[in-house]
Amino acid sequence: MSQYATVNPATGETVQSFPTTTDEQVADVLVRSDAAYRSWRRAPLADRAAVLQKVANLYRERVEELAALTTLEMGKPLAEARGEVGLAAAIYEYYATKGPAHLGDEELEIAGTGTAVVRTEPLGALIGIMPWNFPWYQVARFAGPNLLLGNSIVLKHAPNCPQQALAMEQLFRDAGLPADVYVNVFATNEQVADMIASPLVHGVSLTGSERAGAAVGEVAGRHLKKYVLELGGSDPFLVLADADVESAVGAAVAGRMFNGGQACTSSKRFIVHTDLYEDFVAGLSAGVGSWTMGDPTDAGSKMGPLSSAQARDDLAAQVRDAVERGATVRTGGVPERTAGAWFPGTVLTDVTPDMRAYREELFGPVAVVHRVGSTEEAVALANDSAYGLGASVFTTDDDTAQRVAEELETGMVWINSTSKSAPDLPFGGVKRSGVGRELGRFGLEEFCNKKLVRRV
Ligand code: NAP
Repeated sequence: MSQYATVNPATGETVQSFPTTTDEQVADVLVRSDAAYRSWRRAPLADRAAVLQKVANLYRERVEELAALTTLEMGKPLAEARGEVGLAAAIYEYYATKGPAHLGDEELEIAGTGTAVVRTEPLGALIGIMPWNFPWYQVARFAGPNLLLGNSIVLKHAPNCPQQALAMEQLFRDAGLPADVYVNVFATNEQVADMIASPLVHGVSLTGSERAGAAVGEVAGRHLKKYVLELGGSDPFLVLADADVESAVGAAVAGRMFNGGQACTSSKRFIVHTDLYEDFVAGLSAGVGSWTMGDPTDAGSKMGPLSSAQARDDLAAQVRDAVERGATVRTGGVPERTAGAWFPGTVLTDVTPDMRAYREELFGPVAVVHRVGSTEEAVALANDSAYGLGASVFTTDDDTAQRVAEELETGMVWINSTSKSAPDLPFGGVKRSGVGRELGRFGLEEFCNKKLVRRV
């Protein structure tokens, strides 16, 4: 059963616990959410957009308060937390200002008399299930487009960020969103399954692990509900023979270490041409090793603790398995167990397919570097993964970059850069990294009814 509590991952101290929503409350929320949808969908589009603009403004006004909650609940350094709040604000603003243009009627060219128009209409009450690693941003990707469309939202956040979940709900209220259009629930997984099954609910969006995505997708499929799944990744970072190794190393260090390495699109598998391999490994190890870890409220810390002691122990088990099977630790390694969830930046080489670190997502600051002899070998190794979220390619030849981009089995490819997220860029993966897209105009197309109105 999910236990909603603020536990400071820097110290292991439980700061505050929150009771789980009761079954009666869950049933009541669904009725209220459905009623709220029926009235919200009729609010003029300009009014819905204006509320989202107010949401963006409030995120900016409250940045210090919101960022401090993130640092407390999941250990992200304050500067990164402020950056995330700013990105969430930009997403709400994008949908407030650019979203309406994507919701106009589309007249089709048809054979025969009369007209055929496709309208974009909302679906109804939706369930959102979100993770702790970017608590504001993940919700914004889902709530921004769907509130603009006229859907209503019942949100189940991760159990370790309850204060952020409540602050978010309050912020929507303060921005003038009508009651019950966005409701937070501290629900169990069983209650989530019941909600998805309810005829009052019309879709579910989950950002989280492959395990959670499979469980929620199964329930949604059984009840014929639309779903979007944004799941894990093990993004490859290809350094081809003609790459600028210095700029590749700089990007690689930040790409692996940002957010303590706890991002779905963190660069996780570095696939390097043999000519550049030694220089790259030396540069990456030096950069990762000097990434200062410390109190996340201290401006000098570039990395705080991981999100929980469990996350640290899981990562330690993956690294231990690799080392026991012959991997080489270039910097870092398995930490001592302490009250806080600390884990040092680590670089592993000589990782082979029999090791967990070869196939599994490493959700923390642990880089795996592979050596390859050709571009073809690099692409084959990159695609030898169950995941297909993002990828980076470093090369000074644009034709090669475009060809490699075409060969990579991922939802996103970045050339000479690590993956970044922006309000106007679609985000999502293929293979076991998920189903569907968020952000940009694509985020408006998942939970809508493309309704044909044909006048003969
Ligand atoms: P998680 O354990 O899967 O949890 C994510 C959310 O799903 C939580 O709210 C969790 O709640 C809920 N959940 C898990 N099992 C569920 C079930 N059977 N029914 C209903 N809800 C369920 O993931 P996490 O550890 O918080 O996040 C890390 C993962 O998310 C990584 O794999 C990362 O790559 C992925 N991620 C993907 C993206 C993307 O856009 N593709 C972005 C960020 C993160 P409970 O804990 O209460 O079960």
